[in-house]
Amino acid sequence: MADLGESTPLPAGAQHRAGFMTLEAQRGLIAALQDVIAAAPFYQPTMPRWGTPLSVRMTNCGPLGWVTDKSGYRYQAHHPETGAPWPAMPQALLNLWTAVSDLTAPPEAALINWYGARARMGLHVDADEEERRAPVVSVSLGDAAWFRIGGARRKDPTQRVLLSSGDVFVLSGAARDLYHGIDRVLPGTGPAVIGEALADLQQSAAADAIGSGEGSAHSQGGGRLNITLRRVTPT
Ligand code: FE
Repeated sequence: MADLGESTPLPAGAQHRAGFMTLEAQRGLIAALQDVIAAAPFYQPTMPRWGTPLSVRMTNCGPLGWVTDKSGYRYQAHHPETGAPWPAMPQALLNLWTAVSDLTAPPEAALINWYGARARMGLHVDADEEERRAPVVSVSLGDAAWFRIGGARRKDPTQRVLLSSGDVFVLSGAARDLYHGIDRVLPGTGPAVIGEALADLQQSAAADAIGSGEGSAHSQGGGRLNITLRRVTPT
């Protein structure tokens, strides 16, 4: 697979808004997520059919949440382990969507992925949404990570983009359905104050949640939180 390098312009419709959120705004968002995580603890998602665990831990907020397990990929209105409805999306996320999206309809799902030091996300297309004209908006917090974006086909050339804490990435228009993923996290590269805020977030989470296993950041003193906002049903 050809690698186009970092200097190549992004595909039309893809936007990297580096440093979009200030440190203060990032801290505010993490604080708002304390309540979300308390109501909807991180859990271990698994791949369809074989049940292989993903290397990230997940939870959601908003009316719908994206989940994966042996039954497949889907959106559902409740947490797969607690059965409780997903908590409301913090205002900071709704504001972010309004600021970078040309859509007046609000996002319905905020997928919260926790990347420990060795977590990654293979190349994929966000394809479980009925509404495909709406953008996909994500924000990175904590350790930086190498993001990879390619074309409409898996074998198309790809390029990598370093996503740092506070960066926002938008997939809209022609870029909405492009392949993308996370190659790797760069442990210890996040701002210290964000690392501390993420550590607080973990402490408020259940003991068996992100503080254990592959997703652990305790041993690394860092980690990466990525939040992806999506519209699911037609607007
Ligand atoms: Fe994705």
